[in-house]
Amino acid sequence: MSAVRLVLLGRQGAGKGTQAVRLSEHYGAPHISTGDMLRSAVAEGTEFGRKAAEIMARGDLVPDDVIIGVVTERLAKDDARDNGFLLDGFPRTVAQAEALNELTAGSGLHAVINIDVPLDEVRERMRQRGRDDDTDEAIDRRLELYESETAPLISFYEAAGLMVQVDGLGSMDEVFVRLVAAVDGSTSAS
Ligand code: AMP
Repeated sequence: MSAVRLVLLGRQGAGKGTQAVRLSEHYGAPHISTGDMLRSAVAEGTEFGRKAAEIMARGDLVPDDVIIGVVTERLAKDDARDNGFLLDGFPRTVAQAEALNELTAGSGLHAVINIDVPLDEVRERMRQRGRDDDTDEAIDRRLELYESETAPLISFYEAAGLMVQVDGLGSMDEVFVRLVAAVDGSTSAS
């Protein structure tokens, strides 16, 4: 299949990052994770990185205009133009989704896939993961913002006929098989 252009949605702890890496290998499309890009900026210690670090530590969202700028530059690179992309962690707000629509106006998205894992389950997974930036407050804040800012994207993309729900419970392999079936099912028509 030529260049897939996909968006992965899912609460923090739904296994999105891991599945995105596998899907990226499977479809030969670059994995574009805004969280990873921000963490690299933090590691580089730039002024932008220092500001982002504070926001991320609180579990808040980086301002839309900033992250839209980052993604605009990234999608303009040759690999994304030639091989498509798998967006992980973007869009997270309706404003970001509208910006993405404009960015992909010529080619369009193939599908938006939500890896669905219930709130209680992701909360438990996050607590067990115990990463440094996973304080209880930050976890709660990220989950709260997901419900208020990102969950509305489900109806946004349903209205566009792009939304595909995938059950995120089960082993990593089981979920991966479901994801590939969902992507292949949604791209075969295009
Ligand atoms: P993630 O690795 O996707 O969970 O992202 C880690 C953190 O980076 C998030 O909690 C946000 O603070 C920030 N971030 C990542 N992507 C975005 C985005 N699209 N919009 C705003 N903030 C973001």
